[in-house]
Amino acid sequence: MIRRAKIICTIGPASREPEVFRRLVDAGMDAVRVNFSHSSHEDAARTIRLARDVARDVGRPLAVLADLQGPKIRVGVLPGPLDIVKGELYAFEALHDADAGASGGAIPITYPDLASEMDPGDRLLFDDGRIAFVVEEVEGARVMARARTHGTLLSRKGLNLPGKALGVPSMTDKDRRDLEFALEQGVDYVALSFVRRAADLAELRDLVNDEVLIIAKIEKEQAVRNLVEILSLADGVMVARGDLGVELDFEEVPIVQKRVLRLSQESVSIGITATQMLESMTFTSRPTRAEVSDVANALLDGTDVVMLSGETAVGDYPVEAVEAMDRVARRIENESGFLENPSDVGAPMVRSGVHRTVPGAIAGAAVEATHRLGAPFLITLTTSGFTARLLAAQRPRVPILAVTDKENTYRQLALVWGVVPIHHDESVSYDGMLARARTYAFEHGLAEPGRQCVVTAGMPFDVPGTTNYLRVEKL
Ligand code: PEP
Repeated sequence: MIRRAKIICTIGPASREPEVFRRLVDAGMDAVRVNFSHSSHEDAARTIRLARDVARDVGRPLAVLADLQGPKIRVGVLPGPLDIVKGELYAFEALHDADAGASGGAIPITYPDLASEMDPGDRLLFDDGRIAFVVEEVEGARVMARARTHGTLLSRKGLNLPGKALGVPSMTDKDRRDLEFALEQGVDYVALSFVRRAADLAELRDLVNDEVLIIAKIEKEQAVRNLVEILSLADGVMVARGDLGVELDFEEVPIVQKRVLRLSQESVSIGITATQMLESMTFTSRPTRAEVSDVANALLDGTDVVMLSGETAVGDYPVEAVEAMDRVARRIENESGFLENPSDVGAPMVRSGVHRTVPGAIAGAAVEATHRLGAPFLITLTTSGFTARLLAAQRPRVPILAVTDKENTYRQLALVWGVVPIHHDESVSYDGMLARARTYAFEHGLAEPGRQCVVTAGMPFDVPGTTNYLRVEKL
């Protein structure tokens, strides 16, 4: 059985050696995430090279996602670990250079407008919300805040200022350097952190070429409010539950997850659920039952992709974590009702927007015809991958064989729900691409000759986004 949901693994010290990396691929990794919050350019280049080499060896694509840090606010350099005592008052001061040290005993913060934007009652949450302060007053350049928790504050730990609409640029100088490097390396997806509105994505869109797909990380309350306009510019969205659960009260996360995933499917965007999915597997070989349920419920919510972070980047059991995700996804997809009638199991589909255009109508008809004919799979001939994504958003019960002549599309399709990417390296023609799909299907035992199968495409092939063709072929 072909698994429909896709798996992204964050690559780090625990997984960038070729032998482990290859085992992750064998266990079911579909895409690698290079997290520029932690990765050097040298390590990133090695990972990307490895991904390309291993993909060639195994004969299936691996997508590479470059995750840009975005305007993350951090503690500057402290003289050493700082013990925070609950109930004590502390001073915080902005510094303009992230590598500079503390000034006059204040805790340095890498946000230049700290003092002008903070008000009494605002919260400062450090280290994933583990260390909390509430602002009492602002004295010139200093923000005075009282500790609400004990803890040890370390240099460079992250800071969230929940509910504040910050005047930070959407991309920092570091993001621009990382992006330039990532584009040189030919990455397939770029994710931007701390997106607040569509304009943040427009800035990124201007900097990337058409061959790269953009993922908006949803981790700010503002982004949740602006979800529809963000989805209109993003090719995918990530429910980045780590920061989201600090920026918002944590009990909001499951509701936001469901809403993002439903709207994402309706907008033909790739929905990714991320962070702490199998967190305990960083140190143990088996997931907790709660984690298994979390992965399963994300799939039932309609996620296209599930992501591993620390589990594969720095964990002791990276391969086991991928195997666990693969097992849970297959079990859910095997559950009667999940693929038979996904809208009954997952979020209800409203089918608005793009689903009511010509491409949407053709894709809907292709899926309906496939189901009525009992065809073993759907075939799509695609240049940009758009037709395949449109079909995936209809949640067909059978796999989508997506044939493309474009290398970048081939790799990007690795992350699209239900899609089996097939590369056609000869000149583009309907008959040639169909023959390629047919050969692939026979070689992989997906169907016998003589079966009927629906083919959909956009014609002419070189104009992306024009899904306008549907035909029933005999294999
Ligand atoms: C998150 O916050 O959940 C996330 C995916 O982003 P990062 O790993 O960059 O913090």
